[in-house]
Amino acid sequence: MSFREITSLTNETVKAVRALHMRKERETTGLFLAEGLKFIGEALDQGRTPKTLLVGMEARPHALLDRAKAETLAAGGEIIVVTHPILEKISRRENPQTVLAVFEQQYTPLESLTPQSAPCWVALEQVRDPGNLGTIIRTADAAGCGGVILIGDCVDPFSVEAVRATMGSVFAVKIVRTSVAEFRAWRQTWPGSVVGTRLDATTDYRAAVLQRPSLILMGNEQAGLTDALAAACDVNVKIPMRGRADSLNLAIATGIMVYAATDGL
Ligand code: SAM
Repeated sequence: MSFREITSLTNETVKAVRALHMRKERETTGLFLAEGLKFIGEALDQGRTPKTLLVGMEARPHALLDRAKAETLAAGGEIIVVTHPILEKISRRENPQTVLAVFEQQYTPLESLTPQSAPCWVALEQVRDPGNLGTIIRTADAAGCGGVILIGDCVDPFSVEAVRATMGSVFAVKIVRTSVAEFRAWRQTWPGSVVGTRLDATTDYRAAVLQRPSLILMGNEQAGLTDALAAACDVNVKIPMRGRADSLNLAIATGIMVYAATDGL
């Protein structure tokens, strides 16, 4: 059994967990930080257990916390009781969650995806904003999508900010990383419709007749979906812009598309 208490802000474990705010450290260790019992509950429900569970000394008794402790220990993880200043330092927040956890990152290889297991999937080209990515992962989960494919140079889905925005859905959908070339080759095997979203498309998204499973491609926040990927789609669609705004936020546009694709298009 591994169970200890840390009170020093300069403790090596505290430093190692804090370092997970840095992408380089996450890439080296393959780990990421999740905050709060809700996240930990989502993880446990998906069969994922923390490698390290950090419990604040002021954490209130809770059945889910007891479960998290028991499953962490059973899986060979470590439980550390920490002070409030340590929670603040690790989470970089003045009002930190009283329970934090370190998990292993999990990516699904592109070739092992099972398209027919969900009515809709999302692919994002060079998404740059962690809040957008986390919101899209959450929305994809909510709409019943199978997963989110990250194409090209995307923001890290396991950054603290992105993970926070997923509200726990980071554990519920498959996350894939791939290159444009690899995606274009693999896309040939897709059994349903591959749908690009572009402001210059002439097809209204509600007019497209889609064959499930749909694979919805969304472009970068600034540059939009590149010609290379738009050309790899069966159809490119637009969401009508009726006012003065020239485009929708990426996560909002994704939400409209995935609900349309799962609810009837
Ligand atoms: N200046 C960029 C452009 O020209 O595409 C705007 C990119 S927009 C902020 C980010 C992404 O959201 C787009 O690449 C597209 O995938 C999606 N998007 C936003 N508004 C859209 C709309 N009205 N119709 C279709 N897709 C839209």
